[in-house]
Amino acid sequence: MVGMEEISLWQQVCRQFDRAAAHTKHAPGILAQIRACNHVYRIAFPLRRDDGSVQVIHGWRAEHSHHKLPTKGGIRYSMVVSEDEVMGLAALMTYKCAIVDVPFGGAKGGIKISVKDYSTGELERITRRYTTELMHKQFIGPGIDVPAPDYGTGAREMAWIADTYQAISTDKLEALACVTGKPVGQGGIRGRKEATGRGVYLGIREAVNVVEDMTPLGLSAGLGGKRVVVQGLGNVGYHAAKFLQEGGAVIVGLAEYEGAIASDAGLDLEAVMAHRAATGSLLGFPGARDLPDRRAALELDCDVLVPAALENVITAENAPRIRAKIIAEAANGPVTSDADNMLLDRGVLVLPDIYLNAGGVTVSYFEWLKNLSHVRFGRMDKRRDQHIFGELVGALQRLTGMRLRHDEVVDITRGPDEEDLVNSGLEDTMVMAYQEIRTIAKRDKVDLRTASLISAIDKIARTYSELGIFP
Ligand code: NAD
Repeated sequence: MVGMEEISLWQQVCRQFDRAAAHTKHAPGILAQIRACNHVYRIAFPLRRDDGSVQVIHGWRAEHSHHKLPTKGGIRYSMVVSEDEVMGLAALMTYKCAIVDVPFGGAKGGIKISVKDYSTGELERITRRYTTELMHKQFIGPGIDVPAPDYGTGAREMAWIADTYQAISTDKLEALACVTGKPVGQGGIRGRKEATGRGVYLGIREAVNVVEDMTPLGLSAGLGGKRVVVQGLGNVGYHAAKFLQEGGAVIVGLAEYEGAIASDAGLDLEAVMAHRAATGSLLGFPGARDLPDRRAALELDCDVLVPAALENVITAENAPRIRAKIIAEAANGPVTSDADNMLLDRGVLVLPDIYLNAGGVTVSYFEWLKNLSHVRFGRMDKRRDQHIFGELVGALQRLTGMRLRHDEVVDITRGPDEEDLVNSGLEDTMVMAYQEIRTIAKRDKVDLRTASLISAIDKIARTYSELGIFP
């Protein structure tokens, strides 16, 4: 069993792909092309550290599939980054984009560093140099390959990438579309930072609303009162926890790097975050109990477990001790394929990463569209919508004799702004995709991960056959 667990993320993704491919009728050649990783660029460059010493920095960028362009995928800064890992994550991006109908191929980048070991100046030099290297080999560009934030990176790093690209590129007009997840003032889009976590919440909400799927788990339908544990309170985990709590779920456990806490009565997320900011740790939060270590949170009795840190946290070793009825994969690859099989055998509902965390790339797509069109969403139509809604409300009041309060009229007639439109597009995407993969799961009697991959494989195969490359 241990030997089986030691396979890389790339091999795990290939295993999942093969399992799904067996349910399709595509020719072996087309399946082999969809599965293959098209390009991998391995980079090493020197960094002059603040103390004057020189260190070699290692990085990668993998472009898994060019069936649609540009390719798209985050850049992570982590000590466990490797060539196999970025290939596996790039493949997940290909399938993820297909599942939510975002017209991109998949990519992923990584730099093997631990962010906390570097000053801001050093991180900026590393990011700018990495961008320059990508440019030299044509591994970045609005129509080529468009990075985004991932583990260890955020809006700040994306701003450095955009600035470096804009300074060097001759294509000044489209340059900002070379990367997404930028700060709003640098061509970013409102709602991107929260998008992955919001998508995780929307996906969980869709799943728990289906009575037929909740009954076998011994759960009632609806998010209200569901007991949730979240591992990792970074961008994805924090926002997922926030929206879940606002949606009526009760957070009974939280884990971060330094440890984990639990409370059956529920944890107030903002109060926990304030406690962590003040003390540097989750531990010692008033009213909660400290767990023996951070991994113990995964084994808490709960309805929904949300791993939102890194891959391979639920393995064949700890899977038998997982008590959650639903595992919501906010992180990429948190459940190994052996653990996945064990959980499925036990009837645990696994909401797969390739669907559940696709909110980030969905809103990245909106940001890319905004950059290429050079206009904020809602700018052209907000006032017009406001006017039409106002006319409608006026007509209804005249016809029915009903009188609305001024604040109600303002609320109803308010035209949508950029954030409203982004959130509405994200919600529609997550809801439609869930219905699609659930339908396939029922039709083919498979789990949701396999169903998601069947959906992705069918869509990508269609692109190739429309190109006339394969029959
Ligand atoms: P992040 O760097 O903002 O946050 C990760 C958090 O996890 C950090 O706070 C870190 O301290 C914590 N952590 C690390 N190891 C832990 C452990 N063993 N136990 C508990 N906490 C731990 O990263 P992120 O952007 O939130 O990404 C998290 C995951 O979500 C990754 O798998 C990433 O690939 C995936 N993802 C991110 C996005 C995005 O838009 N950022 C989109 C899709 C998927």
